[in-house]
Amino acid sequence: METSRRLLLEYFRLLRRHGLTNAILRMPPDFVVQFEAQLQQLLATEGEMDEGTNPLTSMSALQGVLECVRGEVETGLTRAGFAVSSPLLVAIFPTGSFNAEVKPVTGGVLVLIHTPAMTLMADMLKVNVWSARVDGHPPRVSKQETVAAVAGLIHRYLTEEHEPPTHPPPVNVVGDITMAYLWAENPIDRWHFYFGPLVRSCLRFIVAHEYGHMVAGHIQPNKTVVKLTPVGQVALAEKSHEQEYEADLLAAKILLAHFGQPPQAGQGLFPAATLVSPLFFFTMHHAIDRVRSNLGLKPMAVSSDHPPSTERWRRLHSFFMQEFSRVGLPRKAVDLPEAFELWFKSIEDDVINTVQRLRACPEIAPQ
Ligand SMILES: [Zn+2]
Repeated sequence: METSRRLLLEYFRLLRRHGLTNAILRMPPDFVVQFEAQLQQLLATEGEMDEGTNPLTSMSALQGVLECVRGEVETGLTRAGFAVSSPLLVAIFPTGSFNAEVKPVTGGVLVLIHTPAMTLMADMLKVNVWSARVDGHPPRVSKQETVAAVAGLIHRYLTEEHEPPTHPPPVNVVGDITMAYLWAENPIDRWHFYFGPLVRSCLRFIVAHEYGHMVAGHIQPNKTVVKLTPVGQVALAEKSHEQEYEADLLAAKILLAHFGQPPQAGQGLFPAATLVSPLFFFTMHHAIDRVRSNLGLKPMAVSSDHPPSTERWRRLHSFFMQEFSRVGLPRKAVDLPEAFELWFKSIEDDVINTVQRLRACPEIAPQ
């Protein structure tokens, strides 16, 4: 689906209202004002917006990735036979939330993704894959390196979580995420072969969940609640726990439809495994909450309107088990998120101790 000019305009206005044009767009306010004027002119004309003039694909690599994710989700949406009544724009915004947030605006909906959550997820998956035996090859990182890396990532996330963005995310993380899209057909090595589809699938779930809310009619312009973000108050869509479960289920259906069934012969377990990325997402959510509670911080579920990740997992787990049996996908794939949880449990105590040391003495934190 074409990027809605109306939504682009609304997004730029939102960034400008919160003083983010430079921190996110790297464009001076004057330029943004001019650009908004151009968009308004374009809105008055008919016809498609030229891809070359879509600033989302050029403003930052992460934003370009989110445009790809939107395209993938919309493909799954159509294949699943669902439709949304108004357009969505998926974009970076410092919401302070691990989950995506939705902002109803004139002409549609902005799906806002917190950059630190996106980079944490990609980084955690990378460490997980790098610390695993892959196709009979020994892990690339030792247990000690794994603990240090995971603790460093969680420390970085907790530090940045409620801060307004001042600097771009680390180049290597952005490179990893964009590589998952650029080199999808031709991964550089066996670790990337697993890492790429997992990252893509996790991002697809986060975005598909918000499409699920739209499909189910949960998003109403007048049903918002003002939330405190790292850059001030923003009116965001208000949803109930039951609506969250419903959106999860619709997202899972969109993911299944995106892949088609059954997965191609010869690819083994992996295509099926990437379908269960929501379960990875919840396990990660839960793992970070365990660290938070050990540090005496409020768990993320308490500070958001999303229900606990464990309950979301439980419900989706049974859906995937049923669906996999029905269409003949290997059920073993559903065990993979559990393997991720066991992996985290095996390093959890050491990670918590290390995060505690990093918080007490931030100057030793890895950059
Ligand atoms: Zn939701």
